[in-house]
Amino acid sequence: MERPQKISWLGLGNMGSPMAGHLVQAGFSLTVYDVNRQAQEAFAARFSCVPAQSLSQAAQGCQVLITMLPNGDLVRRAVLGANSGEGLCESMPPGSVLVDMSSSSPVGTQQLGRDLASRGIEMIDAPVSGGVSRAVEGALSILVGGNKDAVGYCRPVLEAMGSSIFETGPLGSAHAMKSLNNMLSATGLLAAAEVLLVGKRFGLEPEVMVDVFNASTGQNNSTKNKFKQFVLSRSFASGFSLELMVKDLGLAMELARETKTPAILSAACREMWAAALVALGDSPDHTEVVRWLEQTVHTELTS
Ligand code: NAD
Repeated sequence: MERPQKISWLGLGNMGSPMAGHLVQAGFSLTVYDVNRQAQEAFAARFSCVPAQSLSQAAQGCQVLITMLPNGDLVRRAVLGANSGEGLCESMPPGSVLVDMSSSSPVGTQQLGRDLASRGIEMIDAPVSGGVSRAVEGALSILVGGNKDAVGYCRPVLEAMGSSIFETGPLGSAHAMKSLNNMLSATGLLAAAEVLLVGKRFGLEPEVMVDVFNASTGQNNSTKNKFKQFVLSRSFASGFSLELMVKDLGLAMELARETKTPAILSAACREMWAAALVALGDSPDHTEVVRWLEQTVHTELTS
């Protein structure tokens, strides 16, 4: 199977920009589009690419079209069109593949796949994990769902952005996997924050506690990669917004409802993150959920 050459890319935000940059560096020919003109211009100033002036121009002649947008509703609107505006699918050539790398609704993805199939366009879902730092390194974990031939065709493109690629099953399975991963990750972050606050109020040093957890059975991804880096440092600059995390937790709870699975701990976790978003307002980073917990007990995780 020939490797695709002509890639169109939609969404040059915190994740999309470094990911698309790796495709240029790997020799793919890239057309890019972002509704935020500054983001598009900044990318085009750094990387050799064609900046598109409209959605329809973005998709012309592409073999693979990648979306890295905040959510699946935006992907659906961009692809199929909204308010009688033209969608990308009008100019995507038959036989081309839509790769949604956003963290989207699994159910919405299955529906979009059916809508595109009737137009001769294939779709796979390929959300990522690893955050901005691993996007910059080109070392993301990429989860892929969809038809095996389409996944195989897109694999060289995905390999330019990730260090591990997991095939999770049919279309929608990767988006399901991603939301469940984020539910687990979000629960771990809150659990760690709670015990750190208890320890702090007892008189333990936050730095020492994180070191102990990381050498002990209490460790998790947040104790290893988030607390010292973004919370104890007070930078709260992970590059993943609290709003996007709340969206992912809603998707995981959608799966729990669809499968009639009681998920009491996960439901409580989602409610806590949603409450933090309301209380903090103004586009907080997801690690600022700890600031919200700190406020509730009048204690900061500072030395
Ligand atoms: P972001 O908000 O930084 O970037 C999204 C970009 O999409 C913005 O530049 C925005 O202008 C653009 N956009 C929105 N609607 C558009 C449209 N219709 N056409 C073209 N461009 C449009 O978000 P992000 O942090 O890069 O996250 C992107 C996706 O990846 C989300 O689904 C998120 O849940 C997921 N994700 C994020 C991280 C992270 O650490 N930030 C990690 C894993 C997965």
